[in-house]
Amino acid sequence: MFILKGIDQLTNAIAKAKKLRPRVEFGGFGRYRVSGSKGYYTVVCRKDERGYKTVACTCKGAEKGLVCYHSAAALSLHIGLARQQQTA
Ligand SMILES: [Zn+2]
Repeated sequence: MFILKGIDQLTNAIAKAKKLRPRVEFGGFGRYRVSGSKGYYTVVCRKDERGYKTVACTCKGAEKGLVCYHSAAALSLHIGLARQQQTA
């Protein structure tokens, strides 16, 4: 799990996601299933009680607090959806 502070944090992970093109399945607002090397991982994007945007992925890298490409792939969809909701 990591706290999302800015898009700069995601630059490397986004580059990797663009290269590997994982499948992202929508599982409800803020919840995504992303394909990885060992099957699907679940990515949950939410705001915690302090107002921080947190992103959690079930892969090994994210367990150590790394920004994984699954999170980046899910976030690019999440950010788009959040924008749509705001402008709706
Ligand atoms: Zn991951």
